[in-house]
Amino acid sequence: MAKAEFLTPELTEYLTVPHVRAETMAHSRPFVAKPEHQESVGYPGELMDGWEEKAVLKLGELVRGSRALQVFLDSCVKCGACTDKCHYYLGTSDPKNMPVARQDLLRSVYRRYYTFAGKYFPKLVGARDMTKDVLDEWYSYFHQCSQCRRCSVYCPYGIDTAEISMAARDVMDAVGLGQKYSNEIIGKVHKIGNNLGLPGPALKDTLEGLEEDVKEDTGVDVKFPVDEKGAEVLVITPSADFFAEPHIDGLIGYAKVFHQAGISWTLSSYASEAANFSMFIGSRHNLKKAAMRIREAAIDLGVKRIVVGECGHAWRVAYSFWNTLIGPFDFLDPNYPVPQHICEVTYDLIQRGALTLDKEANDDKVVTFHDSCNVSRASRMGNMPGGQFIIPRAVIKASVNKFHDMAPDTIYEGTFCCGGGGGLLTDDLIELRVKGAMPRMQALKQVVDEYGVNYMAAICAICKSQFTKVLPYYKFPMDMIGSVHGLVSTAIQLGTKQ
Ligand code: SF4
Ligand code: SF4
Repeated sequence: MAKAEFLTPELTEYLTVPHVRAETMAHSRPFVAKPEHQESVGYPGELMDGWEEKAVLKLGELVRGSRALQVFLDSCVKCGACTDKCHYYLGTSDPKNMPVARQDLLRSVYRRYYTFAGKYFPKLVGARDMTKDVLDEWYSYFHQCSQCRRCSVYCPYGIDTAEISMAARDVMDAVGLGQKYSNEIIGKVHKIGNNLGLPGPALKDTLEGLEEDVKEDTGVDVKFPVDEKGAEVLVITPSADFFAEPHIDGLIGYAKVFHQAGISWTLSSYASEAANFSMFIGSRHNLKKAAMRIREAAIDLGVKRIVVGECGHAWRVAYSFWNTLIGPFDFLDPNYPVPQHICEVTYDLIQRGALTLDKEANDDKVVTFHDSCNVSRASRMGNMPGGQFIIPRAVIKASVNKFHDMAPDTIYEGTFCCGGGGGLLTDDLIELRVKGAMPRMQALKQVVDEYGVNYMAAICAICKSQFTKVLPYYKFPMDMIGSVHGLVSTAIQLGTKQ
């Protein structure tokens, strides 16, 4: 693919709010799903006849079904607190990427058909008919929201633009206008079990190859079991962990942790994907269908625990939705949380002295940590407030000597999105991804300049893939992004328990 023509934003010493430049990203649109992608996830193949009426009905259905969505649409007072909080606005200057403006794209249609004032005095309240122009605008700008929820942290009413964006995508899918990238991937999970479309035999081959690599590297027989009935732990991890750097270093780290702790574990060739892109398109039936594979695999394999690997939105789906989607989990060991994050497992083992970690093995690295949106703002980890921030950092600090956080307003619950979340990690949106990464890149530059940071750890497959791609645009090496368990993997001492 030819390199897209656009200018990478310049990194300044401090993050500044740009002057508004209207419509600068109006051209940005992801590829539209083909009929076969649409139909594989239960939607009309193409924009249907009478789509306007259907879209309005679907919107009404969503609002009636979600009290939260209705409150989000009814309660904005236009205070402006969110306007400079979105990385896509900061990186593109397009005012339609201000969260309040993005909400208004949908709110204006909701008002027209579902409020008294909008029905009778539309111009007075900014209400709009559902037209093709409106639909096109939705398609463009609701695919410029990574559903990161940063804006909701700063909104005095807690309005969550991510929910509005999900609803808009759900409406578009329902009338036959879906996004190729997300819908094709969801279809692959339904058919094969993972985003990559990697069939069981290929997965087994890959894992055998990994066993050989680790044996050659360490001299130790670290296993990467798959479909092992009776294992204690089923690991559900993003399929990116199976095939590419820096993800695969994380998987090697998980395997070494289980090996060293003497915990039997397995992957599943049937449920070989933690990611669940159905959340990005706001589709509950697809969310449930994809997640159900995990429940079925856990029962079939007879495991006692389910542990989730490094994947941001997957952790949100697991932590926040599994219980109602695919629970109850009364067939699992009640002494462990369901789900449990791999960082929690490693953290507990470190606390109990069950692992020996040689920090000096990572002395070539000066590390920072990128908090992933869905972990930070949509879930928790461990049995403590803020565990989602504390636990990954504790695991990193147990594995390295040199660690420096980025600026306080760019981490924890204020973390900036990588720029590729929410179903936007596709090359047809590379301009948006590069520009949207600017705030994170700017915060990274500060710690690179000040402390010599040369490794940014993350616990999200999308973040890792996105940074691998966009770091070079900002003149950083692409391999400075890595897994938290990649650091554990380097530090862990195999065969020398304390
Ligand atoms: S959810 Fe994130 S990407 Fe979407 S409008 Fe809010 S800050 Fe921007
Ligand atoms: S911060 Fe909240 S209330 Fe204020 S403009 Fe943004 S969405 Fe509306």
